Amino acid sequence: MQDLENKIDKYADVLINKGCAIKPGKRLIIKAPIEAVDFVRILVKKAYQAEAKFVSVQWHDDLTGKLRYQYAPDDSFDYYPDWIKYANEDIAENHDCLLSLTGQDPELLSDQDTQKIQSVKRAVNVHLKKFREMMMKNYCSWCIGAYPVQAWAAKVFPDDKPEEQKSKLWDAILKTSRIDNDDPIQAWQEHVVELKKRADYMNNKQYDVLHYKAPGTDLTVGLPKGHIWCSAEDKAKDGNIYIANIPSEEIFTLPDYSRVDGVVRSTKALNYGGILCENFEFEFKDGKAISVKAEKGQEALENLLSLDDWSSYLGEVALVPHSSPISASGIMFYDTLFDENASCHLALGAAYNFTLQGGNDMNEEEFRKAGGNKSIAHTDFMIGSGELDIDGILADGTREPVMRSGEWAF
Ligand code: ZN
Ligand code: ZN
Repeated sequence: MQDLENKIDKYADVLINKGCAIKPGKRLIIKAPIEAVDFVRILVKKAYQAEAKFVSVQWHDDLTGKLRYQYAPDDSFDYYPDWIKYANEDIAENHDCLLSLTGQDPELLSDQDTQKIQSVKRAVNVHLKKFREMMMKNYCSWCIGAYPVQAWAAKVFPDDKPEEQKSKLWDAILKTSRIDNDDPIQAWQEHVVELKKRADYMNNKQYDVLHYKAPGTDLTVGLPKGHIWCSAEDKAKDGNIYIANIPSEEIFTLPDYSRVDGVVRSTKALNYGGILCENFEFEFKDGKAISVKAEKGQEALENLLSLDDWSSYLGEVALVPHSSPISASGIMFYDTLFDENASCHLALGAAYNFTLQGGNDMNEEEFRKAGGNKSIAHTDFMIGSGELDIDGILADGTREPVMRSGEWAF
């Protein structure tokens, strides 16, 4: 128990001082489930110890959220409160910090009306568009961590007793976040350097196309000129170096949204905002996902593709070796923060401006012209496995191995 408390304290340290990298005078918003209250108090203390100017917490709760779907009038679902929008934009505009704790029942909304869910998603995404644009241009320092809420732990460890489920999920979160180490901050420093080496290699190559082959997958993804492979660390507009995802195992860039062709099959479930989508396959033509077939979550995925005119085009390409610690844990987390960092993935929707040379200074039209997608959506889905081969194709047509059987080939 002492040991767990000690690790949780170190985890809070990593999220505040390495993830958000809070500096004196900065303001912080923490978005967290109410079940995490004890942990959030530790985070708040650490933030003030780092001389944050002001910390506020936006609480949420699965069951409170679900009540809206059960009882609210029909005109509730496309509403979004301006005051939340302004709070987010205020933080971004002033280069302050955001910390979100993921932790949700992966099947919370599985029995609710998908049209209502779609309306809510669209309303959220439309109202937070300006804020997300600023995030994608590195206006603020932000980090996503996790808290093991009971319903989530029950889904991940269904065969254990309730009291064991939560501590097992804590263990998994802490281990994959490199908190097991004596000095986790140092461990993160070393990990960041390793990831950056991979990104540098890919940046020097400047492949024109990546070709993915695996069972059910034969996909080519064009990469625009001047694409930048990024890894764990990002630099905010005020110069602050932060880590947006704890854990983070990926290197990622943007695809040329108009040059994606072929079929790609998912290798892990996708928790699309409380609806679980499993065993699905997209077919792409000239960049657009023209069809989706899913064993589970068909309607949710169709809704994702029609969220706006551009949510059926890709905005992120990410590489993660199959032997990453999260993948090696063998645990299916049903949470994108963990599952995307266990697996090569793609994202439908908007690209990050900072993944393109000069992208942070481009408006939407200029960015799109250079190959970067813009959409109100950004949804990652996992395609990596021990059977995935990826070739890089240079502009002169030369093919080189990038990944073989899910592992780096260089
Ligand atoms: Zn990613
Ligand atoms: Zn993503």
